[in-house]
Amino acid sequence: MTRPAPLRDPFGRTVTYLRLSVTDRCDFRCVYCMAEQMTFLPKAEILTLEELDRVASAFIARGVRKLRLTGGEPLVRRNVMWLFERLSRHLASGALDELTLTTNGSQLATRAGALVGCGVTRVNVSLDTLDPDRFSRLTRWGRLDRVLEGIAAAEAAGLRVKINTVALRGPDGNEDELPDLIAWAHAAGRDLTLIEVMPLGEVGADRTDQHLSLAVLRARLEARWTLTDSDETTGGPARYVRVAETGGRLGFITPLSHRFCESCNRVRVTATGQLNLCLGREAGIDLRTLLRADPTGARLEAALDGALLRKREGHDFRIARNAPPATARFMSTTGG
Ligand code: SAM
Ligand code: SF4
Repeated sequence: MTRPAPLRDPFGRTVTYLRLSVTDRCDFRCVYCMAEQMTFLPKAEILTLEELDRVASAFIARGVRKLRLTGGEPLVRRNVMWLFERLSRHLASGALDELTLTTNGSQLATRAGALVGCGVTRVNVSLDTLDPDRFSRLTRWGRLDRVLEGIAAAEAAGLRVKINTVALRGPDGNEDELPDLIAWAHAAGRDLTLIEVMPLGEVGADRTDQHLSLAVLRARLEARWTLTDSDETTGGPARYVRVAETGGRLGFITPLSHRFCESCNRVRVTATGQLNLCLGREAGIDLRTLLRADPTGARLEAALDGALLRKREGHDFRIARNAPPATARFMSTTGG
């Protein structure tokens, strides 16, 4: 039997990485991600777990090798472990190299063992501060101790943990604490990746007040540490440096001060089944209608090639005072 051709866009980039959002809901309300009062989507609009499996499997059949479940908070989706278990068959068959997730860590303490059982080997945990009060302020609803317990449980179960940290300017952010956070992660043998705030969704705060340029931050870190550029990649958009003094690896995701589009191998599917070819662009393709109209999956498969022809060369982010967000979609809807 001949294998279907891989998904290729008009710029010759092959799509090998799918980020699939399994819910738009979350048990936190991070200040850069969500508004305090969020209206979540009606359940009927969200893909069922079976539909999520069908979408992911269609992409895997067309050459996706890495699948990341995200959200919202993926671990608050009811029965989400059923989906992990279903998807693990693609690891067993060799069709998929990696099944992973991005999580806020709040549920990891109880889920880590089951995730390992489904073939997950590493997780990204988002953590912006080690100060309990600041944590409560930045996440609005979160508790630091539960996340730290989650990280400990994940590692005890054998998962590798990478920390994702959004760099936030000023005393209302975490700017002053970033070197300590990096040192903390590296001391425990964890990579840490810094993320610039992206203008997604109206969160009730001015992005220019939150945005901290990672180019500026890097220069500051270089006054304290020796950073050496590294060619290492984890298949995502981060560029890495090695920190000589800590011995650890530090990633930078800098969509605004350095565009990373030229090597983009990723597409995203939202919890409502919208295929987004670029995080920073509004246009999506409605896979849910195709899924629901045709249980055989033939229409979905046929749509994927056509969809990829629409992948654009680069994103459209910019941060300026009072500028509207690049898209009205929240990061939590698209899947970070
Ligand atoms: N709830 C999970 C979590 O927090 O890890 C997964 C979803 S969250 C949307 C994924 C990542 O996006 C997190 O690392 C979060 O910090 C980041 N994020 C959310 N909103 C962002 C924004 N406006 N700009 C940059 N990163 C953002
Ligand atoms: Fe929830 Fe993650 Fe968004 Fe925070 S960043 S509100 S944890 S989805």
